[in-house]
Amino acid sequence: MAPTTKEEYLNAEADFHKSVSRSAPRKYEIVYFSVFKHILLHLCAAYGLYLMFTKAQWKTVIFCMCYAYAGGFGVTIGAHRLWTHKAFKAKLPLEIILMLLNCIAFQSTAIVWIRDHRLHHKYSDTDADPYNASRGFFFSHIGWLLVRKHPKVIEKGKTIDMSDINNNPVLKFQQKYAIPLVGMCCFVIPTLIPIYFWNESFTNAFYLNMFRYIYGLHVTFCVNSVNHLWGNKPYDKNINPTQSIIVSLLSGGEGYHNYHHVFPWDYRTAEIGNNWINTSTLVIDLLHKIGLAHDLKTTSETMVQERLKRTGDGSDLWGVAAKL
Ligand SMILES: [Zn+2]
Ligand SMILES: [Zn+2]
Repeated sequence: MAPTTKEEYLNAEADFHKSVSRSAPRKYEIVYFSVFKHILLHLCAAYGLYLMFTKAQWKTVIFCMCYAYAGGFGVTIGAHRLWTHKAFKAKLPLEIILMLLNCIAFQSTAIVWIRDHRLHHKYSDTDADPYNASRGFFFSHIGWLLVRKHPKVIEKGKTIDMSDINNNPVLKFQQKYAIPLVGMCCFVIPTLIPIYFWNESFTNAFYLNMFRYIYGLHVTFCVNSVNHLWGNKPYDKNINPTQSIIVSLLSGGEGYHNYHHVFPWDYRTAEIGNNWINTSTLVIDLLHKIGLAHDLKTTSETMVQERLKRTGDGSDLWGVAAKL
């Protein structure tokens, strides 16, 4: 079973220390196809960024920003908080919408993303962590997508309980029809909308969308890299994950990562869930109000305060201890 309660998460946290060695030296086996693909995608995105400031219509720029945010929610609210961590429950229409938003972001299929992220939590910053930050910034940011997986990632990946996900009809549908769904949601529709509705040129619409796509990838990558390397650790100074307001701002509230690794079941992924930076939480609250989301899991203030005192680095950036 995937850990869902506080006790199960604490046990899993203790287990990985016993079972996985940290930062064993290893030669990288480069996957040249992935390197070529990402160079091409990034060149397209760079041209899109140039067009954004030179030739594109402002409507296309605004549209790309909105579309990036929509796709982001498919990752933060869908793949991350709902499916990976089961931090709340969603009605079927909401699951379908989140699955489509997840296709907009296209960070592999949700099923693959969820398995990688459960591995990341269970074996953080060890060889079994797909984006192991103890191998440095570049590896944890994007390098892990350009080389063959570490054998420990494959070995431990098989032990991750994915039964809830593999039996989810919405996610099975996405997995089965990934190519047409992602093709339409991530590439075709966002290119056609500016052309059809306000006569944008194909070149502008296509390359700006490529920039939107790559930008979204890097925001998520920052949670795996920046948030495991730099920042304060108010809740547990013994782990690598940190708090970063900048990453939170970019990612709709996902940068309170020290908190998130300590209390991963919390749907807010932050102790200060209801602030304007944490837009994913604000959206989940709204979905809860209109009845599409329910059973929102949180962490009690007492538990947060106890953990601050017991294992925090004393930084308590937000003065949470004083407020509680
Ligand atoms: Zn997580
Ligand atoms: Zn992390």
